[in-house]
Amino acid sequence: MTVAVRFAPSPTGLLHVGNVRLALVNWLFARKAGGSFLLRLDDTDEERSKPEYAEGIERDLTWLGLTWDRFARESDRYGRYDEVAEALKASGRLYPCYETPEELNLKRASLVSQGRPPIYDRAALRLTESDRARLEAEGRKAHWRFKLEHTPVEWTDLVRGPVHFEGTALSDPVLIREDGRPLYTLTSVVDDGDLAITHVIRGEDHVANTAVQIQIFQAIGALVPEFAHLPLLTDAAGAGLSKRLGSLSVASLREEEGIEPMALASLLAKLGTSDPIEPRLTLDELVAEFDIAKIARGTPKFDPEELARLNARILHLLPFERVAGELAALGLVGADAAFWEAVRPNLGRIADARDWWAVTHAPVTPVVEDPGFLADAAALLPDEPWDLATWGAWTGAVKGKTGRKGKDLFLPLRRALTGRDHGPELKNLLPLIGRERALKRLAGETA
Ligand code: GLU
Repeated sequence: MTVAVRFAPSPTGLLHVGNVRLALVNWLFARKAGGSFLLRLDDTDEERSKPEYAEGIERDLTWLGLTWDRFARESDRYGRYDEVAEALKASGRLYPCYETPEELNLKRASLVSQGRPPIYDRAALRLTESDRARLEAEGRKAHWRFKLEHTPVEWTDLVRGPVHFEGTALSDPVLIREDGRPLYTLTSVVDDGDLAITHVIRGEDHVANTAVQIQIFQAIGALVPEFAHLPLLTDAAGAGLSKRLGSLSVASLREEEGIEPMALASLLAKLGTSDPIEPRLTLDELVAEFDIAKIARGTPKFDPEELARLNARILHLLPFERVAGELAALGLVGADAAFWEAVRPNLGRIADARDWWAVTHAPVTPVVEDPGFLADAAALLPDEPWDLATWGAWTGAVKGKTGRKGKDLFLPLRRALTGRDHGPELKNLLPLIGRERALKRLAGETA
């Protein structure tokens, strides 16, 4: 059996950390097993699906490096859903119902007030031919429900272990709306069957759907896949993420927070698993470490601060080749490996490199408190060429001449050379600043 998984977002909004985590877990599962990863757009909700969201999903997955082997779009497959629906009608598993939403609400409210579960009473199954003709003459259109078997539904979930539902505790789901449009509960099963999906890995908000969908797989004669339902992420306080989805969209993490793809992947691959969260520079490392059995049932917490810290740790490790394009995109033309290695330990996000570029390549107003000391230091500045040893040699000479050491020696030099109290190691910065600028800054000139 070749493993085949799918990520099936509805293009009705931006991808956020919660759903992109499911994409990542599916992708890692496929890669680990040497299987295939399908991107399927669940776009049958035509009012809410938008091309720009579909494009956004593709952009976000590509940015993270989650390439797909196959692609499908549900709106291309209406003919196939009709065919399956007709077959289910013919076998009596799909039956027409005529209740209006108001009538259904009343039924539901009445059951709930009696302390009973809001399960559809199958009144429509008792309609005669002439009842239906009368309702249709009134202008009512049928929606269609799937007739569940009232037998237990069981599966061994790869995350939750054995799961058991009583068929009698489930409500016959509506699969076809009254305008004839098929609903997700059906379309997803038809696609998973036709595209030979072997493992459905999704959020635990779909557990009850699975009970129903297993019966639909059986009714349409498709192979029932294995299932894994992951606990949904919450925020650091344990509340659902939904309220903050805007700020937690992949697009805003990338564009506003300056998060690196591998920072997000390193965190999301490990959240809620027994593995420690460590910076990883390639998806291959995450594939090697992945095992769905490591995903625990407890609720994982997503903390943006943790992501920001991981982002910094990743930047401190990334080699120049991996960031050259981004540095160029920031307008730092000529930024090279020496610049990158000098500044990366001080970055929380890559755009912060602009500040240090300004210190090494643009005029800085020095902070000068003791011009005499700086003049002594300037007189001792070695001739170029400079390298990483220049700073040590120079400050050693300044120390010998002035008797200063520690902070008294280094801080005035840092303030004059960079205009700031903190920053990357001067050993690395000094050769980037260069002798001409350094002399002017030590003399108190903006240079
Ligand atoms: N479009 C569904 C969702 O986004 C897919 C669920 C599934 O994986 O089956 O919730």
